[in-house]
Amino acid sequence: MASGHPSLVTHHSSLSTVFSLLAREEEYTVPDRDQHDRFLWAHSRLRHHEAGPRPFVSEYCQKLLLSIRESCRQLALPMLRKEPWPRGKPMAACLTHDVDVVRRGKLGRGIAVRDVTGAISSLAHGKMGRALTQAAAIARTAARHQDPYWTFDRISAIEKEHGFRSTYFFMAGRLHPEDASYGLGEPRIGRLLGELHRQGSEIALHGSCASYADGESLRRQRNRLENATGIHAIGHRNHLLCFKAPDSWRAQAMAGFSYDSTLGFADREGFRGAHAFPFHPYDLAADQQLDILEIPLALMEVTLHKYRRLRGPDASEAVTGLLDQVLSVNGLATLLWHNDTFYEPEYPDCARLYQEALGWLSTHGAHVATCGEIDRWWRAREAVVLSPLPEGRTGWRMETPLEIDGLVLRGWMADPSLSPSVMPATEVRLRRDGTDYLLEFGRLRAGSRLEIEWS
Ligand SMILES: [Zn+2]
Repeated sequence: MASGHPSLVTHHSSLSTVFSLLAREEEYTVPDRDQHDRFLWAHSRLRHHEAGPRPFVSEYCQKLLLSIRESCRQLALPMLRKEPWPRGKPMAACLTHDVDVVRRGKLGRGIAVRDVTGAISSLAHGKMGRALTQAAAIARTAARHQDPYWTFDRISAIEKEHGFRSTYFFMAGRLHPEDASYGLGEPRIGRLLGELHRQGSEIALHGSCASYADGESLRRQRNRLENATGIHAIGHRNHLLCFKAPDSWRAQAMAGFSYDSTLGFADREGFRGAHAFPFHPYDLAADQQLDILEIPLALMEVTLHKYRRLRGPDASEAVTGLLDQVLSVNGLATLLWHNDTFYEPEYPDCARLYQEALGWLSTHGAHVATCGEIDRWWRAREAVVLSPLPEGRTGWRMETPLEIDGLVLRGWMADPSLSPSVMPATEVRLRRDGTDYLLEFGRLRAGSRLEIEWS
């Protein structure tokens, strides 16, 4: 900028911090891991932040955007920006389910060995009242017509109430003792996969614990899932959130996935990459961007239940606190609820928390989509090219290399007597938001070329 003019000042150290958080630089150097070889929030250099893994990067981007806006106003420069979500929604959410266990207990009818030993132990210690309660619980479980962990109809019903759909991550083989014990060849799993696909859910791969950094193995698992279902699986999340930067991202890209949604802390809700948006990870060792989109995981119900031991209102507060945080940066909240935690006698809070979270998303007008839909949207949005019109004309030329539905552009012009028009005339809705114009497009085909001119 010429001297004497207002200019946008950003500090190199801030940008370098943003880059280091996104690339997970600390995970290259901090050696601590848990028994599953996972990097936890407890290992992070930021763990002393009371607010947990906040989306610091998203907050920084928001401040940067405000500075750019302000500079544009001061310099009387026009401004045009792609809004983050379809139809200008204030935030987005992905609802996801990792399918780890579909059968509760080895004794049949959903009864686990621990149920019986628990009742016997109470009896042996003379705790008659407790033993009777446990026996009654066993009888109730045995009387159910379905295994307590087979909760897929219930999950679908809760989501349908709000018109939402979700992504299911299925395992494709038992390569590690911690992996799932069901097989894709089981008839009931085949029927379940078909039914979920018919109702519009996305099917993706839940990678084995043995292969979180093994591209060849991930590719074989992906092939098995696709052969068993006939569905093209573009997404991945690793079982137990096993993940190593940058090896896991490299392996996922090598296996041909379009997105991953593993990056989250098992022991604390929030943002492991400090960003509440999809992003392209960077491989610091090879000094290059990786060809995979990370759709970061924001909240897993087990984190609240098992690691944080939050119950009742405290658990509700943690969920809404996180969603408020995402809304404040217009970001994306990816939520993970396992099918087995909808069995309320064992996980008393989880189904209720899920219903509350979906209610909150409805009330706040979030764009709720599958991870696959978010992946397609984000890639189509980032591919949109805006370039200035030739000298003498005020506006932009827009090209959409990929099909995109619901794109919204936010524009501002110093001269209030000017308003935007789109050529060729296409389906666009023009709205005012204070001094800004919002241009909402319908479905734009791949290869569309438009001009947005202020006159
Ligand atoms: Zn899992």
